[in-house]
Amino acid sequence: MRRVGIIGGGAAGIVAAIAAARNDRQAEVFILEQNERIGRKILATGNGRCNLTNRQAVSSCVESCYRGEDIGFAKSVLAQFGYEDTLRFFSSLGLVARMRGDYAYPRSEQASAVLEVLELELKRLGVKIYCRVKVESVVKEQTRFCIRVTERFQDGKQGALIPEARGHGQRNEKMMKHTFRADRVILACGGMAAPVFGSDGNGFRLAKSLGHSVASVVPSLVQLRAKNHPFGKASGVRTEAAVTALVDGEAVFSDRGEVQITAYGISGIPVFQISRFLAMGLLEKKRSEVLLDFLPEYSKKEVFGLLVKLAGNRKNLTAEEWLAGIFNRKLIPRILEQAKVRMQTQVSDLDERKIREVAKKCKGIVLSVQDTNGFENAQVSAGGVRTREISPQTMESLCVDGLYLVGELLDVDGICGGFNLQWAWATGYLAGKAAVL
Ligand SMILES: Cc1cc2nc3c(=O)[nH]c(=O)nc-3n(C[C@H](O)[C@H](O)[C@H](O)COP(=O)(O)OP(=O)(O)OC[C@H]3O[C@@H](n4cnc5c(N)ncnc54)[C@H](O)[C@@H]3O)c2cc1C
Repeated sequence: MRRVGIIGGGAAGIVAAIAAARNDRQAEVFILEQNERIGRKILATGNGRCNLTNRQAVSSCVESCYRGEDIGFAKSVLAQFGYEDTLRFFSSLGLVARMRGDYAYPRSEQASAVLEVLELELKRLGVKIYCRVKVESVVKEQTRFCIRVTERFQDGKQGALIPEARGHGQRNEKMMKHTFRADRVILACGGMAAPVFGSDGNGFRLAKSLGHSVASVVPSLVQLRAKNHPFGKASGVRTEAAVTALVDGEAVFSDRGEVQITAYGISGIPVFQISRFLAMGLLEKKRSEVLLDFLPEYSKKEVFGLLVKLAGNRKNLTAEEWLAGIFNRKLIPRILEQAKVRMQTQVSDLDERKIREVAKKCKGIVLSVQDTNGFENAQVSAGGVRTREISPQTMESLCVDGLYLVGELLDVDGICGGFNLQWAWATGYLAGKAAVL
C-alpha cells in the first residue's frame, strides 16, 4: 500500500490529504502537524469569517492578484484549479458559499464551518492525523522517505503515535522521537507569517535540506511603521485615501480604500496591499516610502478649485475651519503642518501660492517607511521556495522524485481578498491528486 505523508495540517496540507485519499482509496494518507490541532490558521482567516476565494482568482487575472519571481507558474496552477474549482470542491464537502461582490465566504460566515467540513471529509476518507508532532528532518532513502519527528505530549499522557509510528520511541521527559516512512511526501508547512499558528519558517529549512533554494522571505499584507511619523498625532483616524508604494522614488504599486492612521504608522487593506513591495525594498536597503493621497476622488486641479471655492466666501475663517468640511478633524492640523500653514491663519491671508501648497499636500504627502510590523502581524509571507524547481502541473519537486511542495511555502503570494487561501487549496489539490498516480 502506498503511503503519502503530508507535513503540515494547514489549508494546503488538508486539501492535499483529501485529494490523495479520494483519488486512491487504497493509499494510506497521513498528516503530521506540530500544533495541537490541524487548521488553526483557517479559523483566524477573514476575521473569523474565512474569505475562501475570489472570482478574480483565475489564470487570466494572475498578474494583478499574485506576485512571485515566476508568475507564469501561478498562471498554470490556477488554470488547473481556479475560483470555480474551489467552490465546486467545497460544495462537494457540503459547504454552501455566498458571494460578497467578488469575495466568497461560507454562508454561515464562520471559518469554523470551513474547517469542520474539511475535518469531516478527512475522517470519512480515513486520513490519519498526528498532532503535536513536529517534523525535524526528511531524508530520501532510495525509493522511500524517512521522516524524523518529535512528539510533544502533556504530563502523564502517552504519546499518541504509539504504536502507529514506525521505529522505536525514545522517551525524553515530555518529548518522544519517532520515525515515519512514506513513499511520497507533501511539504505543506506554510511560510513565516503569523507564526503563532505554527508557520514558523520550518518548511524552508526542510525544503533547503532537500536541495531547494528559497527566494528572500518578507512579511506581506502587514502594517507599515513610519520614520518621523507625519500623522502620529492623528492616530485613530480612518479615512479614504490612495496609497502608492515608492521604492527608490519609483511608484511600484497603488491601492485605494480605507486607511487607518496609527500611532506608529499606517494600516488598513490598501496599506496591506502595497506592503510586500516596501518590505522587499527595505530588505534590499532601498528608499521605501508611501505617497498618501487624501482626496483620491479629485484631480489636483479639482482639489485646487475646491479649496479656492471654499475660501471664496469664507474669508473670516481660520485655515483649520476652512478644511473642516472635507477632512477628519484630527487630520487637518497634520495637512496644514505639511503645507507650512498655521491653523489660526485667516483664510483671507492665504494667497494662491499657499492654497496651491495645501492642495498639493491633500493630494500627496510622502511617508518614509522605517519597517513593517513583522511576521507576527503579517497575513502572509512573500518569497519562498523557487517555483522554477517545481512542476506547475503536479507540484512535484524537480530536485527530489516523490516530493511535492505546496501553499504559502512557495514563492507566490496573493493580495488580500481570498487569493492566498485559493493558492493553498489549488496547490494542495494538484499535489494530492498527483502523489497517488
Ligand atoms: C490572520 C490571518 C487572516 C487571513 N485571512 C485570509 C483570508 O480571509 N483569505 C485568504 O485567502 N487568506 C487569508 N490569510 C492567509 C492564508 O490563511 C494563508 O495563506 C494560508 O492559510 C496558507 O496555508 P498553508 O497551508 O500553506 O500554510 P499554513 O496555514 O500556515 O499551515 C502550515 C501548517 O504546517 C505546520 N507546520 C509547519 N512546520 C511544521 C513541521 N516542521 N512539522 C509539523 N507541522 C509543521 C504548521 O503548524 C501549520 O499548521 C490569512 C492569514 C492570517 C494570518
